[in-house]
Amino acid sequence: MLVKRSHCIHSGSCICTNGHLSETVLVLVFKSLNWNPRTLCSVACVCKWFEDIAKRILWKEFCLSRAPKMVSDLLSGGSHGTIDGNWNALGKLMIYCSGCHDGNNICQSNSIAGHFVYRTRFSRTSGKSFLVQQCRTDTLYVTDPCEHLDQGEDGDVGLFRGIFKAFGKSKVRKMLIERQVELHPKESCPYCRTKVWSMVQANMISRSAYRRLGAYEDQIEYFVCLNGHLLGVCTLLPLSDSETASEEE
Ligand SMILES: [Zn+2]
Ligand SMILES: [Zn+2]
Repeated sequence: MLVKRSHCIHSGSCICTNGHLSETVLVLVFKSLNWNPRTLCSVACVCKWFEDIAKRILWKEFCLSRAPKMVSDLLSGGSHGTIDGNWNALGKLMIYCSGCHDGNNICQSNSIAGHFVYRTRFSRTSGKSFLVQQCRTDTLYVTDPCEHLDQGEDGDVGLFRGIFKAFGKSKVRKMLIERQVELHPKESCPYCRTKVWSMVQANMISRSAYRRLGAYEDQIEYFVCLNGHLLGVCTLLPLSDSETASEEE
């Protein structure tokens, strides 16, 4: 295998003055580390060259290694092996619960800090519950709620996140645009930084979402960003109540 060193040409302050390893070598190193996300984050901060290769290759491999089925499904809706909102955003979505800041409809008295999670399962079946009837043919993957219990006056808060397949062509996006729902003036996507729509404002919270989450009916909010990432927050019913609710279904 031919290993060539390419020099960093990005800035005088870049620390890699002795040139970089080739892409091939870096990819092999990361493969042996099983695409460790922490190492990946530190490497991406070194300089533009590393940042670029992390975005283009390393995060993609990370995503494929952690959720191969979901990622190949998401890819089959995109064009030429690309994904909406970049690989690093999807990587972060997989391993980071973004918390909740006070002032949100649900977290009124408390802020919940973002945190890394070890591994998260994204479910397409669960995602269906978050789509209103007219949009049920869209494909959406959603996690189980990350439970933040005893948040003072806010009660037990559940945070969940998800991603649409081919959001650009989805019925949800079409409906948001047809209804002329405005983008939220303050909130933005913690994963890709684009603006978001509030599904409460759009009146597009589906009834089955409450049941799926075990949440109070009027205590749920989710946002969808321009790249089709979903982030949501709800107040969870006490365990005994939510069990009763699901028995009634
Ligand atoms: Zn969490
Ligand atoms: Zn986003």
